Amino acid sequence: MNIHEYQAKSVLAQYGVAVPTGKVAFTVDEAVAAAQELGGQGVVKAQIHAGGRGKAGGVKLARSLDEVRQHASDLLGKTLVTHQTGPQGKVVKRLLIEQLTNIEKEYYIGVVVDRASGRVVMMASEEGGMEIEEVAAKSPEKIFRETIDPAVGLTAFQARKLAYGINIPKPLVNKAVAFMTALYNCFVDKDCSVAEINPLVVTKEGEVLALDAKLNFDDNALYRHPDILALRDEDEEDPKEIEASKFGLNYIALDGNIGCMVNGAGLAMATMDTIKYYGGAPANFLDVGGGANQDQIREAFKIILSDENVKGILVNIFGGIMKCDVIANGVVAAAKEIQLNKPLVVRLEGTNVDLGKQILNESGLNIVAADSLADAAQRIVALV
Ligand code: GDP
Ligand code: MN
Repeated sequence: MNIHEYQAKSVLAQYGVAVPTGKVAFTVDEAVAAAQELGGQGVVKAQIHAGGRGKAGGVKLARSLDEVRQHASDLLGKTLVTHQTGPQGKVVKRLLIEQLTNIEKEYYIGVVVDRASGRVVMMASEEGGMEIEEVAAKSPEKIFRETIDPAVGLTAFQARKLAYGINIPKPLVNKAVAFMTALYNCFVDKDCSVAEINPLVVTKEGEVLALDAKLNFDDNALYRHPDILALRDEDEEDPKEIEASKFGLNYIALDGNIGCMVNGAGLAMATMDTIKYYGGAPANFLDVGGGANQDQIREAFKIILSDENVKGILVNIFGGIMKCDVIANGVVAAAKEIQLNKPLVVRLEGTNVDLGKQILNESGLNIVAADSLADAAQRIVALV
């Protein structure tokens, strides 16, 4: 799960990470009132679940309340297109009004779980404000990494090595070490999957601050963080994915036109690959789970069809936990109930597969019962 910058900064502040003073605003008047508290000026920052806002005009400096009003009314309700939002962009519904910062220099700090070592790694770079992928490609020697032993935590000497590596001014190294330690503690305590401070800044007054903050959380650990779960902003998520999660379906929207309904994540991946292999494009990843029942199949059809790009559906279900005839009855009943009017190819395999195919063929519906995954993929690609 992802949260907004202003929320991330408030979570980080609980652990002692230094952040600028600021306040969220949902309206222009709230933005002006917040800037008043900051002495009549501030930075107006669009709050969306995507980075790259600076370059897209989503971060504006205001020297007066009139400028705050102007920027806030320009940004609220605007669709911001950044290189991370996709071409459709994201509508700005919240702003962060923050004190102006006198930036001396920008840096980068990131914390991630490294799959190779199975440990948390802290990365730091002198190239703040730039995307870390770009730094990694152009000047990898400028990225410093420390792998953290979970039993010991981030040690002071590791943090100092990072601070010296990225040339934090000597008198501020201790502040940078305190910053990194607090960031690491927050990452572990809140079960983060990513924490990225880009930029971390050193100010002309000698402060070390998080000017931007991005926190991602491990969904599987959210049950033990009700305070984090409360920060969820469903406006920022795909409504189809939210609906799917209510029925225990794993759904991820993609941009093709063949809807997929599959049981098991591995089979779903293989199905998407096979569609691609035969020249088609999947509209989604959808895992209905091992024991897909009729309710789930019906809801899955509805979610797939609510995507207007979908021109046809491929159902690929392995009757292991459930027998193929039960699945076939479920598919037929669900297709009738929602009056499915798009091409539907079904490939069943497993126990009672012949009976399952017979049920599909005798349903009176326009369902193609395919013989294999390759056959099914070719047929649905031809039909759409
Ligand atoms: P992002 O583009 O979505 O990553 O948004 P950031 O929060 O990183 O802001 C982008 C850039 O705006 C930063 O790298 C800074 O250069 C600039 N910026 C943000 N806040 C301030 C501020 O308070 N003062 C000044 N001078 N610049 C700021
Ligand atoms: Mn940033």
